[in-house]
Amino acid sequence: MKIDIVSVFPEYFEVMNLSLMGKAQAKGLLEIKAHNLRDWTHDVHHSVDDTPVGGGAGMVMKPEVWSECLDELLGFSRPSESSALSGTPVLIFPNPSAPLFTQRDATELSHADHLLFGCGRYEGYDARIPDYYRSQGVDVREYSIGDYVLNGGEVAVSVMLEAITRLMPGFMGNPDSIVEESYTGEGALLEHRQYTKPAVWRGISVPEVLLSGNHGKVDRFRRDEALTRTNEIRPDLIEALDCKALDKADRKTLMALGWEVSATHPRKLD
Ligand code: SAM
Repeated sequence: MKIDIVSVFPEYFEVMNLSLMGKAQAKGLLEIKAHNLRDWTHDVHHSVDDTPVGGGAGMVMKPEVWSECLDELLGFSRPSESSALSGTPVLIFPNPSAPLFTQRDATELSHADHLLFGCGRYEGYDARIPDYYRSQGVDVREYSIGDYVLNGGEVAVSVMLEAITRLMPGFMGNPDSIVEESYTGEGALLEHRQYTKPAVWRGISVPEVLLSGNHGKVDRFRRDEALTRTNEIRPDLIEALDCKALDKADRKTLMALGWEVSATHPRKLD
């Protein structure tokens, strides 16, 4: 997968050379390039921002600089060339006022050949930038990584990139480790809690069933714990389950937790 990132702080992305992301680059699975938006400016101050039209505090990122940069990285220097867009990267802008980035988005984007991220700063980027590239046929996405405001898009891009790339075939040493995770798959739940050795630590034992060697019982215990934790922390994920996909034991656990499971999706009883 080829990844281009545009930022006014491209050095931020040196961390991408560490850990699994670094190994994936060394293996040739990933090619990450961070570009400095200021390289596309023409004034002595290399300015990328201007005051907001309509007034208000702060500065907004200018469309002209972004368009020179994006035209080049998208591979079309004149708008008329944009009709033949095969092989154009998915263009992604982090934005706190956009829909939430989820595991489902990460899974979809892990199949892309090329991603191009644009990091916002200040009060954000001129709203016409994503609109324009959408109108030119580019697959443009805007995502928030959570209900809070960061100083810039760099952290958000790192978060999205880590979630996306670890789902690429060949990225993880053990591919099984991404199969049964929180938020993953059709009947997505929060994962059960994890333990390692020793069996007793500072007087606290791991749940006995995990030491039993009975795989059926271990699986059931973990599934019940996943259902129970999801019920407590993210009941919206229980509401999204397909009742037809629940087995008898799941139904029993959910009913004990106060859910009605006879309709299409579980419903919390008052
Ligand atoms: N004025 C904007 C607002 O209130 O929605 C906040 C702009 S923020 C200070 C500057 C940049 O940081 C944004 O353009 C975006 O790229 C990034 N950013 C901040 N919070 C984010 C979040 N929760 N998710 C994704 N990107 C975020």
